[in-house]
Amino acid sequence: MDLYEYQAKDLFRAHGVPVLPGRVVTTSAQARDAAAELGGTVVVKAQVKTGGRGKAGGVQLADTPEEAERKAAAILGMDIKGHTVHRVLVTPACDIAAEYYLSFILDRTHRRFRAMASMQGGMDIEEVAARTPEALVTVLVDPISGLDAATAAQIVQAAAFPAEVAPAVADTVLKLWDVVVAEDATLVEVNPLVRDQQGSIIALDGKVTLDDNAAFRHPSHAELADSAEQDPREARARARNLNYVKLDGQVGIIGNGAGLVMSTLDVVARAGQAHGGMRPANFLDIGGGANAQVMADGLDIILCDPDVHSVFVNVFGGITACDQVATGIVQALRILGDTAAKPLVVRLDGNNVAQGRRILADADHPLVTMVDTMDAAADKAAELAALTCAKGA
Ligand code: GDP
Ligand code: MN
Repeated sequence: MDLYEYQAKDLFRAHGVPVLPGRVVTTSAQARDAAAELGGTVVVKAQVKTGGRGKAGGVQLADTPEEAERKAAAILGMDIKGHTVHRVLVTPACDIAAEYYLSFILDRTHRRFRAMASMQGGMDIEEVAARTPEALVTVLVDPISGLDAATAAQIVQAAAFPAEVAPAVADTVLKLWDVVVAEDATLVEVNPLVRDQQGSIIALDGKVTLDDNAAFRHPSHAELADSAEQDPREARARARNLNYVKLDGQVGIIGNGAGLVMSTLDVVARAGQAHGGMRPANFLDIGGGANAQVMADGLDIILCDPDVHSVFVNVFGGITACDQVATGIVQALRILGDTAAKPLVVRLDGNNVAQGRRILADADHPLVTMVDTMDAAADKAAELAALTCAKGA
C-alpha cells in the first residue's frame, strides 16, 4: 500500500525523522484557517499518490491565509497524472538552502534493502542516476543484521555530504531505517531532504510503501487504507478475497492459479496483435476452489468493467475438477442473468475435462464459446473483443 505524503510524514514523526508540522484539509476555507493557525508563509501541497506534484503545479507557496485559500482552491480538484486532488497539506514554508535525497527500497533480486543517498535532491532521482550515476550512492543492507551507525555514517560520507550536516543526515538515515523495519515498509523515500537556512535537516517530502503481506502485524495500518484512491474494482475484488489487478486492455481474464493466469496474459497479448492490438484487461486468479459463487464473483467484477469486450475463462482442472468448474460457470451465468452480456470464451482442460465440456455444451449458453486449446481460445477471445470494439460496444 502506498501512502500519501502526510501519512508518510506521520510515520516519520513517530520515528523521530525531522518533519515540519502540517494540517490536511479538504476545502479551501479550511486551508485558509490552517494557514492562519500555522502563521507566516505556508506551502499548499496536493495529496495524491504520485510524484511530480511540484512540476504539475500541485505545490504552491502562500504568504497569507487568503492566498493559501486561493492556492488551495486552485489545487483541489486538479488532475495530476490521472489522480484527482481531494486533499491538500498545509505546512510551514521552509527556507531551503540545499536539497538532498535519501531512500531505502526493497531489492528483491539481492534479497536486501538498497539504501540510496545523494546530494542532488529535489529532482527525479532517475535523472540523477542516468546523468550523474557517481552522485548517487547505493549500499545494500541486510535486513537481518540491519543498519548500524557506522554504516549510516559511511553512506553519508560516500555521498559527500558536508561535514556540518553529516551527523544529522546519518541520524536521519538510521531513523528512516527504523521506519522500514518497524512499519514493514518496502519503500521509504525522502526527496527532498533539505538543509534550511538555520542548518537544520528536514524531510520536506515523504514517500512510503507498506508491505501488505505484513499487514497482520500492523492493525493500525488499516486506517491508512484509502478506498477512494484505489481502483473501485480492485477494492471490490479485495473485499471478496479475489486476486485481481486492473490492466489497460479489452480482454477480461479469469483463471485458476497465478501461474496459469500470468501465462494467459502473455498468450492473449500475443494473440491480440493479430486483432487490432487487443490486450488483457485484468489479472484475476480465482484460486483452487473455483465454485459457482467464486466464479460468479469473478465474472461479475470483470463483466462490470466497461473496458472489457470479451472474457477468456482459462481453467485447468486439478483438485477442483473441470466438471465442478463447468457447473460453476453455468450457475454463475444464471446468478448474473442480464449482467452477463459479453462473449465468454472458455477453455477447460485437466481433471474430468470430458464431463466439464459436456456440462457446458448441454447448457448451450448463447454467450459461451468453448475452445479446446489455450492458444486457440486466446485468439478467439481477442477476435471477439476486436469485433465488439469495432461495433462501438
Ligand atoms: P513532488 O514534486 O511531488 O516530489 O513534491 P515535493 O514535496 O518534493 O515538492 C516539490 C518541490 O517543491 C521541492 O523539491 C521544493 O523545491 C519545493 N518545495 C516544497 N516545499 C517547499 C517549501 O517549504 N519551501 C520552498 N521554498 N520550496 C518548497
Ligand atoms: Mn518530492
